[in-house]
Amino acid sequence: MLEKHQIEFRERTRSFMEQKIQPEAVTLDKEQRFLDQHIKPLTDEGFLSMLIPEEFGGRPIDTVSYSIAVEEASRVCGSTGITLAAHNSLGCYPILAFGTKEQKERYLPRAAKGELLAFGLSEADAGSDAGGTRTLALKQESGEWLINGSKCWITSATKAFATIASARTSDKPEEKAITCFILDKDAPGYSVGKKENKLGLRGSDTAFLHFDDMKVGEESRLGEIGDGFKQMLKTLDGGRISIGAMALGLGQGAYECAARYASERVQFGRPISFNQAVQHKLADMATELEAARLLIYESSRMKDAGKPFGHYSAMAKLYASEVGTRVAANAIRLLGGIGCYTGEYPAERIWRDVKLCEIGEGTSEIQRLVIARKILKDVKEGQPL
Ligand SMILES: Cc1cc2nc3c(=O)[nH]c(=O)nc-3n(C[C@H](O)[C@H](O)[C@H](O)COP(=O)(O)OP(=O)(O)OC[C@H]3O[C@@H](n4cnc5c(N)ncnc54)[C@H](O)[C@@H]3O)c2cc1C
Repeated sequence: MLEKHQIEFRERTRSFMEQKIQPEAVTLDKEQRFLDQHIKPLTDEGFLSMLIPEEFGGRPIDTVSYSIAVEEASRVCGSTGITLAAHNSLGCYPILAFGTKEQKERYLPRAAKGELLAFGLSEADAGSDAGGTRTLALKQESGEWLINGSKCWITSATKAFATIASARTSDKPEEKAITCFILDKDAPGYSVGKKENKLGLRGSDTAFLHFDDMKVGEESRLGEIGDGFKQMLKTLDGGRISIGAMALGLGQGAYECAARYASERVQFGRPISFNQAVQHKLADMATELEAARLLIYESSRMKDAGKPFGHYSAMAKLYASEVGTRVAANAIRLLGGIGCYTGEYPAERIWRDVKLCEIGEGTSEIQRLVIARKILKDVKEGQPL
């Protein structure tokens, strides 16, 4: 299933994540503290430049390997998983895919050196309905853009040195053209708002962003005027692979925890794993995780092969996130009271962390809409289903 270099990459990555990231995962979650101390080691190992070409200081790898990296990070620390996924797939990718040479030279080398990028699509009134963006960018007579609006739920918002943000470029309600901009944190008018107190992923950083009378030049515009919505959807097609990989890694962590516990915990004079009902739970966990893994790696391969993969990454994200959630819930069940209420085992943290995977980058309902749209298009065009 995996090529030799991908198997070796997994071994190296697992060892790094277990040694450098895992030991702090409990504390970061408990103290709700951002994983600052992980950024340098993650950068040194190339995990913040996995999609960036060498000419911009990156260490690019194929998408299957990238998925493995997010999976292995999430297996030990969901907060590290989401930070990597957001920076690479949502921060670096749009600049790489739609940016000018100058924009790539300006932002990607800094990103490769460990400065985080963020992605600002969601707003208070534009979540699933991302086209409902209210942030407004109006072209001034001076040639500058005047930007006003707020973004919510932005991963790495307090840390990122720049954010790729969507905005409407017309104040006429009937004109819905959306354009993306790369907005610098140190520019006047850019401010970071309230940091969220989250159920899970508490070592990651999620906050509001505000743009108040921000004036930026044409050099901040990403791609053509009106192309922003398409760009964001294309970015999410790839991002969903990494959220699926995150759910897979979290589910894998919960499953390993449950399998070990079930083999050790003795009730009625024998390990609970001797009960067939427990064995069936473990078997279902392993089977569903493996199926999710196949979907994620296959959508990664399709992306690398340049094939249309949007509906496939939606399937991978939908399935992996629902499997991850189910596995984490069953892991807690197998651990009994100690799994739920003590924090002694990672299953409880994973259960809180993995919920996001059913929400971020499109909820499960939105993934089903994406998949159904492709099915119905194929029917209409007489394509094989
Ligand atoms: C921890 C975290 C990190 C995030 N990071 C980022 C980030 O970095 N950048 C960013 O831009 N956003 C980010 N988000 C936002 C995330 O993408 C949104 O929360 C998500 O898209 C859902 O939007 P919403 O929360 O407004 O829910 P809503 O859109 O209000 O949905 C509420 C419910 O209604 C359902 N629903 C809505 N429309 C339909 C429909 N047509 N059919 C059926 N059901 C429907 C949804 O499925 C959901 O169950 C993050 C969110 C979280 C929690």
